[in-house]
Amino acid sequence: MTTTANALLANPPGSSEVEVPITVAYGDGIGPEIMEATLRVLQAAGARIAPSTISIGESVYLRGVTSGIEPSAWDSLRDTRVFLKAPITTPSGGGYKSLNVTIRKSLGLYANVRPCVAYSPYVKTRHPHMDIVIIRENEEDLYAGIEHQQTDQVMQCLKLITRPGCEKIVRYAFEYAVRAGRRKVTCFTKDNIMKMTDGLFHRVFDEIAAEYPGIENEHMIVDIGAARFVDTPERFDVIVMPNLYGDILSDVAAQMSGSVGLAGSANIGEHGAMFEAIHGSATDLPRNVANPSGLLNAAVLMLEHIGQGDRAALIRSAWLKTLEDGIHTEDIRSEATRQTVGTREFGQAVVERIGEQTDYLGKSSQPVPARTAKLNMQLKPKIVKRKELIGTDVFVHLDGIAPDDLAARLRRAETNNLKLQMITNRGVKVWPNGLPETFCTDHWRCRFISDRPTTGGDVVTLLFAMGNIGIDFIKLENLYLFDGVPGFALGQGQ
Ligand code: NAD
Repeated sequence: MTTTANALLANPPGSSEVEVPITVAYGDGIGPEIMEATLRVLQAAGARIAPSTISIGESVYLRGVTSGIEPSAWDSLRDTRVFLKAPITTPSGGGYKSLNVTIRKSLGLYANVRPCVAYSPYVKTRHPHMDIVIIRENEEDLYAGIEHQQTDQVMQCLKLITRPGCEKIVRYAFEYAVRAGRRKVTCFTKDNIMKMTDGLFHRVFDEIAAEYPGIENEHMIVDIGAARFVDTPERFDVIVMPNLYGDILSDVAAQMSGSVGLAGSANIGEHGAMFEAIHGSATDLPRNVANPSGLLNAAVLMLEHIGQGDRAALIRSAWLKTLEDGIHTEDIRSEATRQTVGTREFGQAVVERIGEQTDYLGKSSQPVPARTAKLNMQLKPKIVKRKELIGTDVFVHLDGIAPDDLAARLRRAETNNLKLQMITNRGVKVWPNGLPETFCTDHWRCRFISDRPTTGGDVVTLLFAMGNIGIDFIKLENLYLFDGVPGFALGQGQ
């Protein structure tokens, strides 16, 4: 260790002398060995942390706890509000809830921050100049876990996008960009198809981008955006996305940078933060082969978050120096490798380089704002609009019926106000004036509209009448005007 490093350890600049309590979970599969390697490096770098360990994952699931986490573990998480988590194995078979989704939602960890950087020429990649940060919304979208089987043939998953959810993640992306010295934030959505949900995300992006004139902004439809991203990632800087697109593209980004074993991620919320490698428990790997870098980089993000950026930089430099010296795990072995080592030996090589600087790989930190940073996360005031009920979409389960015959039956249930306007099947209009070629399932959306504001009582009358004529209604979506503007998609999807 160099003199500079010794001096730093003796008197850590800018970091509190008090040890910060953190919660640690060793996880499953490769989890324990990458956690051991990571904690050894943290200790060698003088990270001022006081870890307490909780047990989560496979063993807990198999004890019959379907969430994978015991109630007592929540006490530690609520106390420390900082969680360094190794990957866990979700047992195969149904009935087990995703522990990650549970923790993110329970602790309100709305922002998933995933830096993905190329370490060329020491780690082989087709994209040597890639240096991007994906900021993924973590709580909403299709991950609400609200799914139903509605008919014999149809399953549904509800996609929920909220204004406060969009504001929080987009604001975080711009605040991140300012603090990390980034120049541009790009937003990916699919609002050409999902005009209301993704449309809201895009609209909020435009509103908030206008408050940050120093940061470039752009929006792309996610399909073409993803295509450009995998072709020329260097044209991107920070990318903010709804949950599903972010989940997929952040794994793509990590793999593009060289290996899924490299990237760490931070899950940030108002009441805590969780840090983890982006990969899973790699149950296919033998002992002492896994790359511990993903969890180590997550720990670097954690140190920045708890205000120990000096320790974070020390570890990051030592880690980069290890890569530069050609000491590599199996997953990143290439012509730049001088020695292929196991998990433990890689960790030890990083420990031995604490205090050394990199010659070539100048990227010495992956900033996340410290938890004490005063981010401008103020939500816009809630606007309550005049809401008028003007109709309802009733979803119906019925098999082997022609659309014209269904319409004739449904018209017998019409009320004085609510008249049948349209029937669609999988979003395609089949009545009136449908095409005989349209394939129909047993799931029909039947739109009843009133030419004047109506009431919940009228909708109940309609449903009562439908029940009386033996129509199996399975779901209801009321149609409202908000300040006179329709709060529903007007026609069929594209
Ligand atoms: P995985 O990420 O565990 O593995 C995918 C591939 O990448 C495998 O070939 C694996 O050997 C390789 N790999 C992953 N991490 C590596 C590392 N550090 N070093 C070298 N190679 C590495 O994904 P999977 O195989 O789909 O899932 C295995 C288990 O992990 C499943 O039970 C899954 O539910 C769980 N999982 C957990 C998390 C988490 O806890 N955050 C995330 C994803 C998957």
